[in-house]
Amino acid sequence: MSTTLNFYAGPAILPAPAIERAKADMPDWAGTGMSVLEISHRSAQYDAVHHEAMDLLKALLGLDDDHLVLFIQGGASLQFAMVPMNFIPPGGSADYVVTGSWSQKALKEAKIVASARAAATGEPGGFTRIPGPGEYELDPAAAYLHVTSNNTIKGTQFHDFPDSGQVPLVADMSSDFLWRPFDANRFHLIYAGAQKNVGPSGVTIVIVRKSWLEKANGKLPTMLRYSTFADNESLYNTPPTFAIYMVRNVLEWVRDEGGLAAMEARNRQKGGLLYGTIEAHPAFYRCPVDPASRSFMNVVFRLPSEELEAKFVAEAKAQGMVGLKGHRSVGGCRASIYNAMPLAGVQALCAFMEEFARRNG
Ligand SMILES: *Cc1c(COP(=O)(O)O)cnc(C)c1O
Repeated sequence: MSTTLNFYAGPAILPAPAIERAKADMPDWAGTGMSVLEISHRSAQYDAVHHEAMDLLKALLGLDDDHLVLFIQGGASLQFAMVPMNFIPPGGSADYVVTGSWSQKALKEAKIVASARAAATGEPGGFTRIPGPGEYELDPAAAYLHVTSNNTIKGTQFHDFPDSGQVPLVADMSSDFLWRPFDANRFHLIYAGAQKNVGPSGVTIVIVRKSWLEKANGKLPTMLRYSTFADNESLYNTPPTFAIYMVRNVLEWVRDEGGLAAMEARNRQKGGLLYGTIEAHPAFYRCPVDPASRSFMNVVFRLPSEELEAKFVAEAKAQGMVGLKGHRSVGGCRASIYNAMPLAGVQALCAFMEEFARRNG
């Protein structure tokens, strides 16, 4: 067993049992004489995995009969375009809460295909906090209100979702999907690239209301219509079979660990520990994020100088703690502590941070 502690933002750490299971299914899966990578997406073996992944998601989230689970390729970045293409009607407009670069990108894509506007923005404060309810200018006729539940780069997170009234609520949950229990049925559409918190890259999970699909734009190319995926159980063309297989393994691990409530308990413990360590050394570590908007998935922090930050990242790496460099657009340090990061991993990071501050403070 390697002792690497993986703090990368994505693709990111996966639960050890999910990897072990894939190892056991290679090269001979369930007596087929073939690995899971080589088998037809029309085979009974793959079909079972595909539907298991869907059913596990429905059960973990308690989805009602009006909510469908879809598997789509193209990443969250394709969803930035598919959502407005499908759901902004001719002459209509959509509202976006802009809380960082991913939501800026989502809004930009919407403006390419239709009309869209920022209903709230955290830009004046450098995206260091999530706008509060009083800061929204909602268009009651908007096709939908789009939020980014967790801002992977800036380290902020919605702890309460906005009340959009009659306007359908849409969320990019790529970097915190399944971090805690939440009312998924409240949303008209949720999308999440798997490679942050639920699997490898290659598949994006989309949860959408069936009744909303009936109002979607039908004049789009086949692969850009959600209805194509809905009508064919995401088997219209070849799905990313191995990515979905891995998502199934991860979801089963989530269930076996005790479900979303267990994920939340552990995530709060890990986040509390890490933010506590930062706050215990105010002259050395500093978190630029407003305490009420801090992310439990991506913890960003600064050191007294860029030189010390580079030294911190390099020394941590030498001790097996990788991926601690902040996003290239913002610098600093970032520890991504997704569901699969064990408490012991965060404890090891905190111990290193204590020691590094003592030596360099
Ligand atoms: C990583 C990320 C994306 C981009 O995902 P791709 O799968 O690379 O397209 C979008 N939104 C959020 C919140 C992300 O963290």
